[in-house]
Formats: sequence, structure tokens, C-alpha cells
Amino acid sequence: MTSFQHGTPPPAPSHVPGPAVLGARGLTKSYDATRALTDLSLNVHAGESVAVMGPSGGGKTTLLHCLAGIITPDTGQVLLQLDGGTTDIARLDDRERSALRRSTFGFVFQQGLLIPELTALENVAVALMLLGVDRSSAEHSAAQWLAALGLAGMEDRRVGQLSGGQAQRVAIARAQVSGASVIFADEPTGALDSGTSAEVMDILLRSTTGTGKTLVVVTHDDDVARRCARTVRLRDGRIVSDSLSPAAGAVA
Ligand code: ADP
Ligand code: MG
Repeated sequence: MTSFQHGTPPPAPSHVPGPAVLGARGLTKSYDATRALTDLSLNVHAGESVAVMGPSGGGKTTLLHCLAGIITPDTGQVLLQLDGGTTDIARLDDRERSALRRSTFGFVFQQGLLIPELTALENVAVALMLLGVDRSSAEHSAAQWLAALGLAGMEDRRVGQLSGGQAQRVAIARAQVSGASVIFADEPTGALDSGTSAEVMDILLRSTTGTGKTLVVVTHDDDVARRCARTVRLRDGRIVSDSLSPAAGAVA
């Protein structure tokens, strides 16, 4: 796999959002009798940071999972526009969506879902090895990412030997090491104290939108939302507000 482009570590200046990279059109999703999304449409622009807020049960995670091709909506489209082509993610089969998630998207969850038996370095490298990158190249890229996110010297620690904030940095590195252009984060600082939460968000923003990538982050934290360029609020499966932040685009 010589043509594979590894992700390049940050930092770089922020910039103005470009064209829509993801377009949700009329998404509806129900779980049995529960309606999670109702006719929801949303454009996410290249390079944008979008905070998704709203009450628990409002459909935030379901929206994120539809946008990222983790689940498919019952109706509607999720148009991914990359490299001059448009793909409706909602029409792809499981295998195609899984390939897309590995190559194009990155994920950070509330608990990093790191593999406890592996070291920090191995947890990041595994994302590349799943794409067929050989172990030594994968570990080289992983080490660069860990260093860029302030974890130099912690490569050989296992998950249990990292603080919550350090573990989330590893998760952020893993989400991006494959060169993903869109990063999805679902309450990534939800399990951290406020000081650590601010640091981790800073790193997440700098390493994503700070380098021209797109970030969609579910959060309950107003400070996090303020640091994103845009905030979309969901309630009962619908968007109830969509506003640009006064400090739009600022990452520092
Ligand atoms: P949020 O992330 O905003 O808390 P979710 O998208 O997780 O909201 O949930 C939206 C609604 O869908 C809620 O009523 C929730 O209980 C329901 N729901 C979510 N996932 C499932 C599931 N796998 N099975 C059944 N109901 C679900
Ligand atoms: Mg949720």
C-alpha cells in the first residue's frame, strides 16, 4: 500500500469554511415506536466545526451515526461530497460504509473505546493497520500523532496508565491518523473534569478545524459550543436552531 496517504499532524491556521462536505436531506429514523429523527436536513461545510446540542434523547447521537454511516436512516439522503464526487452514504451497503468509515471519517466517543490490552502507540497504529499499512509505518505515524497531541514519552503506556484526558488524546490521534477528513465526536469530554475538558477540546479543535478538517461534535458544554464555529440544536429529532458563533473559526 504505497499510495496510502497517512494523516499529517497539526497545527496550522484556521480558515473560512468551504463547500458542503456532508448534506443530510430529509432524514427520518425510528427505533420501533420511537421516532429519533424527523425530516432533518443539514449541510456541514468543509472545514467547519459544528457543535450539536440539545436535551438527552433529542436525536444527537442518531444524527451523528447517520452522517457517519454507522447506521442508515429510514428515509432521506446523506450526501458526501469529496474529491469532486457525490456519494449517498445512506444507499451504501454495510461493507462500503465500513470502508468509508475507516478511510474518510474519524470518531471520538465519550469513553475513548481504546483497547486496554494495547499501548497508546498500538491503539493509534491499529487504525492504519486495519487499512493495510505495515506495522512499522503505522507505528511511525502513530508516534508522530501522539507527539503532536502532547503525548511524547507515553507511547508504551497501556490505557489504564493514562489519565482520562490523556486517553482522549490517544482517541483523537487514532481518529485522525488515517487521514480522515471529517471527525465526529460524541460528548468527547463528557467524562472529564472542566479543566481537562477544555484542554482536550483545544487539542481536538486545533488538530481538526485548525488544519482544514471538518468537525461535528455532540456536547452539553456551552464552552465547547462557543469554541465551535456553529451550533445546531436538536429537540425531538428536529433542528430547533442553527447559529454561527461570534468567534466563528477561532481555535485558540
Ligand atoms: P441523544 O444523543 O440526543 O441523547 P439519541 O439519538 O441517542 O439522542 O436518541 C434519540 C431517541 O431514540 C431517544 O428517544 C432514544 O431513546 C431512542 N434511541 C436511540 N437509540 C436507540 C436504540 N438503539 N434503540 C431504541 N431506541 C433508541
Ligand atoms: Mg447521545
